[in-house]
Amino acid sequence: MEKVLLFNPPYEKDIVLRDYACSEKSKADYNWPPIDLLAMSGLLKDHFDVHVLDSVAIGQGRQEAIEYVKKLAPKHVISLTGSVSLKGDMALLEEVKRQAGCSVYVTGDVPVFESAELLKYFGFIDAAILDFTSPGIVPLLNGEKNLQDVIVRRGKKIIQFEQSKRASFEYPIPMHEKFPLDKYSLPFSRYSPMTSVLTNVFGCPYKCTFCSSNKLAFKYRKIENVMEELEHVNSMGLKEVYFRDFTFTVNENRVRDICNGMIERKLDFIWWCEGRFDNVNEELLKLMAKAGCYLIFFGVESGVQSILDKTNKGITLNDVEKKLKLCSKYGIETLCSYILGLPWDTEQTINETIEFAANSGCDYASFNTYVPRYGSSLREIVGPGKFDVSEAEKLDSSEEPSISVSIDSERLGALRKKAIRRFYMRPGYIAKRFFRLRTSHQFETLIKNGLAVLKRTF
Ligand code: SF4
Repeated sequence: MEKVLLFNPPYEKDIVLRDYACSEKSKADYNWPPIDLLAMSGLLKDHFDVHVLDSVAIGQGRQEAIEYVKKLAPKHVISLTGSVSLKGDMALLEEVKRQAGCSVYVTGDVPVFESAELLKYFGFIDAAILDFTSPGIVPLLNGEKNLQDVIVRRGKKIIQFEQSKRASFEYPIPMHEKFPLDKYSLPFSRYSPMTSVLTNVFGCPYKCTFCSSNKLAFKYRKIENVMEELEHVNSMGLKEVYFRDFTFTVNENRVRDICNGMIERKLDFIWWCEGRFDNVNEELLKLMAKAGCYLIFFGVESGVQSILDKTNKGITLNDVEKKLKLCSKYGIETLCSYILGLPWDTEQTINETIEFAANSGCDYASFNTYVPRYGSSLREIVGPGKFDVSEAEKLDSSEEPSISVSIDSERLGALRKKAIRRFYMRPGYIAKRFFRLRTSHQFETLIKNGLAVLKRTF
């Protein structure tokens, strides 16, 4: 069998997260198993000799990674890349190809949303994979002529194949055991090792203008296929799972089926997911808690309703406060994400958002600065227009922004730090966090991530 390497290339400066057509630097000291590589390990395992190298997770340097690939001598390398690390990724992958003589395929935000430009710019890339759940990946590696869900280089031509139209999808159980699962953890994680599972959907049907997830072809994963994978990770003895869907809660009936399926099968792990305020209710939250949900990540985006409305988010701040209380009632922790510096923001509205977050009752808050992400509708309005390699690395929402479309960049960076201090340095909050510690792993990650945040904030 030909060897395939699923590769998360090293990034020298920080931890970089670049799965699921998104990329950002870790704002503290966290990292999760890349869902693209997991899904592809399932799709490829019956056809190829699959190897996995997550250099970011294991803290491997560039030279070491190149040596590893040379020694392995795979026929194909499928690599993650992201706008925030693009130049470094491309230099490394070009070197890998030169030294190991393999084909190089990429996936990530730039490969998905700017695929043709990327292939034009970097002549060594053989193909970009547009959908990591697509069975079209096997024929791509087999060198077949008729493909789907990919854009490939054939001689001097770049050929974009059609995206498959599938209402649902499934794939063989991913090779979780090949990933360094003890190296992944989130600031609120209670157990290690942990893994990620795509549990409900691919893409997102909502139309938030700052986001690009809604540009991925939305489809549901077959429930039997989901349960099969959940049973597998349970049999591996894992105690914590990240449900990696962008909007796990999008369809109430399906969430009920998945939760009831987990309860019936007595699956013995806890999990967290991403959800929307407008599609959870008391009964559903109660069921999710019973099925092991311990945290929901919600996007609030802005603490100013008029700005929220302009983003097309489709939620109200009243509902946010109400649902946060309901989550707390059923013992589900909440992580709320905010975007500072949206195009309509002023210093005053950003301060209102900071106060909203601090008083909303959520357990954790993530403050990001607005960047015009590739693929998002808002980028088409606010620019900066076409793909440009030198701009790509500026699209990092996790730090002081290099580009700002609202207030001055430096001031925006300072307000982001203020938001973090205002939220996390409340004496009552710190006491509550320590009071709620459940496991020694939670204690360790809280300290580790707390110190990393302090380092970046002061
Ligand atoms: S922000 Fe969330 S709900 Fe809105 S489009 Fe993106 S993933 Fe979907």
